[in-house]
Amino acid sequence: MVDEIKKDYSEVDSLLQNTGEIDLSSTPLASQVANEINKRTHLNNAEHPTPNQTRIIAITNQKGGVGKTTTTVNIAASLAKAKKNILVIDLDPQGNCSTALGINHEASVPSIYESLITNTPIKDIIQPCPDITNLDVAPATINLSGSELELVSMVSRENRLKKALTNYTDYRQEKGLPRYDFILIDCPPSLGLLTINAFTAADEILIPIQAQYYALEGLSQLLNTINLVKTQLNEKQKPPLMLITMYDARTNLSNDVVNDVHEHFPNQILDAIIPQSVRLSEAPSHAQSIITYEPDSIGSLAYKEAAYEISIWDYKEDF
Ligand code: ATP
Ligand code: MG
Repeated sequence: MVDEIKKDYSEVDSLLQNTGEIDLSSTPLASQVANEINKRTHLNNAEHPTPNQTRIIAITNQKGGVGKTTTTVNIAASLAKAKKNILVIDLDPQGNCSTALGINHEASVPSIYESLITNTPIKDIIQPCPDITNLDVAPATINLSGSELELVSMVSRENRLKKALTNYTDYRQEKGLPRYDFILIDCPPSLGLLTINAFTAADEILIPIQAQYYALEGLSQLLNTINLVKTQLNEKQKPPLMLITMYDARTNLSNDVVNDVHEHFPNQILDAIIPQSVRLSEAPSHAQSIITYEPDSIGSLAYKEAAYEISIWDYKEDF
């Protein structure tokens, strides 16, 4: 299993830029490049099914820096490029998701904070992504950092995002505006009320798992919280999916993490694996997704693969 996925992505990535110069059947690495090219062609032409109703997905992990925002941004960009209508909700006071999608999120900008705390309709806060059509963003500003405390004393404090989203999707329907196919929510690195709001609003959950130290530590706490919200607030929620991020084929540790997740959650893990990639980490500083910044890189391909898998994911009831 691990041998199959063991790839030195950085080498493949640089070779992909120069495929004219190599014989694609000459070595294992060359045939791997050929394989990646085939995958890319397939993905670029793949038909992503349009869901029957809006799919709302929370991207979460209370661990910091595991790739939540990178995953939200690039899955959103991949799906929008595949002609799906997308709304991204930035639910993290850091506002990294807004930055990475080129969205203004200075403190004075109307944001998800106002929607949660003062009932400002989402229609009044969203901004279109400048580089990608079909992609709207509800930005987060620094104001959101105080919201956990403010929410505590509010009525239906766990339901505020769900209510705001329902009002907005109803509004779009009334106005004859196109329905969103996917709403993706980028959660903060905590299990506070913002994250609980995301779990209450979302039908589905995606957990990025960093293929590095202590990846699975804290996962049972996260799964318990998800379960609690499911039983008490959101019965229809599907079992969470997992996505390996920052995979480094040169380390045994990365392969151990992949094996562990496959062993514990065989029916919940995406086949796509997001490699550790310098280009992926560079893209946000250009206010871009990897899909627009380096569309042919291995990181872009991996996120397109993950987005396609999500779009065709068939939730089985039996696990
Ligand atoms: P936080 O918990 O702070 O919200 P996060 O879980 O959203 O963090 P990201 O912001 O997506 O994590 O990623 C953390 C850092 O790692 C960022 O600098 C990002 O650019 C970088 N990064 C993310 N994915 C990769 C990757 N596959 N390869 C290399 N760098 C990556
Ligand atoms: Mg983040």
